[in-house]
Amino acid sequence: MQKLVADIMLAKLARWLRLAGISIEDAPYVEDSKIIDYVKRKKALLITADVMLTGRAKKRKFRVLLIKEKDLEHQLAFVAGELDLDIGGYPGKICPICNGKLRKANKGSLAGKVRKIAYGRYSEFYTCRKCGRVYWHGTHWNAIEKRFKEANYILARMHKKKKKG
Ligand SMILES: [Zn+2]
Repeated sequence: MQKLVADIMLAKLARWLRLAGISIEDAPYVEDSKIIDYVKRKKALLITADVMLTGRAKKRKFRVLLIKEKDLEHQLAFVAGELDLDIGGYPGKICPICNGKLRKANKGSLAGKVRKIAYGRYSEFYTCRKCGRVYWHGTHWNAIEKRFKEANYILARMHKKKKKG
């Protein structure tokens, strides 16, 4: 799969892509030239909202996706449409914070590590192989799914338009 790197300005979008199960790294630099070198070295595709950076990246002849959309749902739909990604929402695959891979955790091993209420209420937990954070699909997951639904709705409309045009 194509490696993806997001410009720091799009950290929120990157976090949401990871929530959808898509692996995307945050650029570890803020300076344009360093970002460009990094992305080139990694043979990754750069996702940015910066027009200048996009121009510079194109001059260096690598793939870059310029995000003009302002709200999260439209950004998600645009990226999914352009890169042909599934944003159905696949919780439990990628750590939204560090882009590490998640694995299903043995609940017993988490006693005392997770808040008691969550530990009592949920049965499925995931831990990040890289940073060790623990995740579960609590009540907040409904709100997350709602935003993915909206993004998918926008994406479906984009596809319709393309077919017509
Ligand atoms: Zn992590």
